[in-house]
Formats: sequence, structure tokens, C-alpha cells
Amino acid sequence: MARLTGKVALVTGAAQGIGAAYAMALAKEGAAVCVSDIRLPEATRDAIVAAGGQALAVAADVTSPESVATMVAEAVLRFGSADILVNNAGLFGNLTLKPFDQIASSEWDAVMAVNVRGTFECTRAVVPQMRSQGHGKIINIASGTVFKGSPMMLHYVTSKAAIVGFTRALARELGGEGIRVNCIAPGLVMSDNVRVNPAWAADVVANNVASRAIKREAQPDDLIGTLIYLSAPDSDFLTGQTIVVDGGSVMH
Ligand code: NAD
Repeated sequence: MARLTGKVALVTGAAQGIGAAYAMALAKEGAAVCVSDIRLPEATRDAIVAAGGQALAVAADVTSPESVATMVAEAVLRFGSADILVNNAGLFGNLTLKPFDQIASSEWDAVMAVNVRGTFECTRAVVPQMRSQGHGKIINIASGTVFKGSPMMLHYVTSKAAIVGFTRALARELGGEGIRVNCIAPGLVMSDNVRVNPAWAADVVANNVASRAIKREAQPDDLIGTLIYLSAPDSDFLTGQTIVVDGGSVMH
């Protein structure tokens, strides 16, 4: 039986890649899904509707407080609540790998703005609605690179480490209000942008796979079981946690 029937989920960065897979999975579990991205994610919405689900597409820039306030308002207007927020939008798939001292200040700021402040803006926009309901699930997306200390993307790794701290501290602030805050830290996933990015050449991907206990490439669908667990009542006594989903590359 569908575990999220009657729930409303918002997924940012859902135009393609992992975000689109999250949105489809939430819809298949019965949630009505507001899919957003910096450009209108029509294809994701259409795919969910074609599969028999409920979806609304909104163009929202996660770095803009006004934009994400509109996103939440549209979701609540259309579906009546906001039960699950997946802070997936990020700058990753298009990044180039480079030594830390070749990262321009503007690149650093852009990664921090989307990956860290974007998570903050969306969370701040949705929490009043979750408070009024007395429940909510916020699911942030970090990265296994935080725990591996992966080199050549210092801005990205630093931004995702911030998300682990954000998750812990916010979980304590909201725990008494029925709002759970957890985090998924994926290892390298062959998302749409990763597959075409020359930074992730076959030998780089192969080295990554070799570091895993489970020696195969990861696809977006490998993250779905954890996403649904964190979205569903099964995880109601879990908060402030970061679950690494990487085939057993880092263990803690
Ligand atoms: P991606 O970079 O390919 O896609 C991210 C999405 O975010 C895109 O659709 C993009 O348009 C959107 N986006 C970018 N800036 C935005 C903004 N200002 N406002 C709204 N949307 C914006 O990433 P992906 O590979 O699909 O990964 C999704 C998430 O998972 C990211 O947070 C990423 O950091 C994280 N992650 C990915 C991997 C991986 O190996 N693919 C591993 C660990 C974590």
C-alpha cells in the first residue's frame, strides 16, 4: 500500500536527475508533489501525471526568498498542505574539478548560495505551514564527499558539510513541534548531468566504485528507499540524522 497517500511533498531541483527521480518516487507512494526548479520542470510534472500521480510544476530559484515563498504558497493553494520538503536543488552535476586555489570567489559564492542558503530559504518558507499543521518532514541532501574528504571540489564539499550541521541544529529547534529534519548523503550517482560531465570520466567513476563495499555504479533510484523511509511515518522518531547511501564507501 502507498505510504504517502494524502501527503504533499515539495521537491526542489526536480527538472532532471536525482530530483526528478525523488519526485516520481514520492508520487508513486501516493503524495501530491510540487516539483520546482530554476526553470519550469514541465517534463517531470508531465511524467508524474502520465503515471497516474498528482503534480504541480513551479519555477522557483531557491536563492530567492520571494520565489520560494511563492512555491510554498502555490503548493498549499493547490494541494492543501506541505508535509514533506526535499531540499535537493544544488550545484553539482555541472561542476568542474579543480584545485582549491583555482576556485574563483564568485564560484565559491555561487555554490554556497544555492547549496547552503537555498536550503535555508526553502526551509524558512515551508516551516510556518508545517508548524500550523503540527508536523512535517524536511529532507536535506548532503554528499558522501563530506565524509571522504574528496579533493578538487572544496567549495562543494564545504557546502555539503554545512548541510550536515544545518540538519542537526534545526532538528533540535523543531523537534518539539513535530517537524523532523534529516539528511541523505549520496555517494557518486550517475545522474543526467554527471553522465555527460567530462569531470566524471570512466576511470574516475571506476575508482569511485572500487572504494565501495558494493562494487557497482549508483543510479538515482538507489536513493529512493531511504527517501521514502525519511518521508513516511516509519521514521517519526528519527531526526537530525545523516544517512550515507553510497554502497558502503564510507562507514560511520
Ligand atoms: P544536478 O546538479 O545535475 O541538478 C541539480 C538541479 O538543481 C538541476 O535541475 C538544477 O537546475 C537545479 N538548480 C540549480 N540551481 C538552482 C536554483 N538556484 N534554484 C532552483 N534549482 C536550481 O544534480 P544531481 O546530480 O541531480 O544531484 C541532485 C542533488 O544531489 C544535488 O544537491 C547534489 O549536490 C546532490 N548529490 C549528487 C550526487 C551525484 O553524484 N549526482 C552525489 C551527492 C549529492
